[in-house]
Amino acid sequence: MMNISQQQAYLFALGYYKLMRKDGTPSIEGIGGPATRQAIYNFQLAHKKRPDGTVLSEDGIWGPATEKALREVIGNNEPPQAALKPVKLPQSTDDYKWVSIDDFKCRCRGRFCNGWPAEPHTKTLDLLEQIGEHFQRRIQPHSGLRCPQWNAHEGGAATSKHMYGMAMDFHLDGVTHQDLYNYCDQLLGDSGGLGIYPWGVHIDDRPIKGRW
Ligand SMILES: [Zn+2]
Ligand SMILES: [Zn+2]
Repeated sequence: MMNISQQQAYLFALGYYKLMRKDGTPSIEGIGGPATRQAIYNFQLAHKKRPDGTVLSEDGIWGPATEKALREVIGNNEPPQAALKPVKLPQSTDDYKWVSIDDFKCRCRGRFCNGWPAEPHTKTLDLLEQIGEHFQRRIQPHSGLRCPQWNAHEGGAATSKHMYGMAMDFHLDGVTHQDLYNYCDQLLGDSGGLGIYPWGVHIDDRPIKGRW
């Protein structure tokens, strides 16, 4: 099967993938996220009925049927069957109540990137949503995504999860950082990264547990 970069490149070429860098080139980083799922979903919707009589399911997930359809569409120059209108996925970030995708925007203020060096991970968004839900408080973001230059500027680790949309530095109004840390620790269980700082906590969805 195609890797994520290949999926993004083809979906961009067909007009379905729309995440762009500041320099006007597509953000093809090989990291899946909401923009990639949306592109897959819109492709599936537009090319739902296949010439062999099969029907693509619109789930926003790349699989053999979607890949076969994409190769056919490219090979045959097939026009889309459905009008392309923005369609909201059930798991779209717009559905989050306590956090928003904009909270992740890189804070270099356009010095080094357009704010979106990568896509925020759904898993990270889900974690933050659960935290907000537990405390009934909105996430107060300090730093989400960091382009490599801004990460260096901020003194982030060379392997910082912030560069990949997997981390968030934040606090909650009216909740002590220690209470927040304790709940996050419980929520992450045997995985994830979690650190406590004078301004709040850092959380990320790394697979191997880290605490500091
Ligand atoms: Zn930046
Ligand atoms: Zn951090």
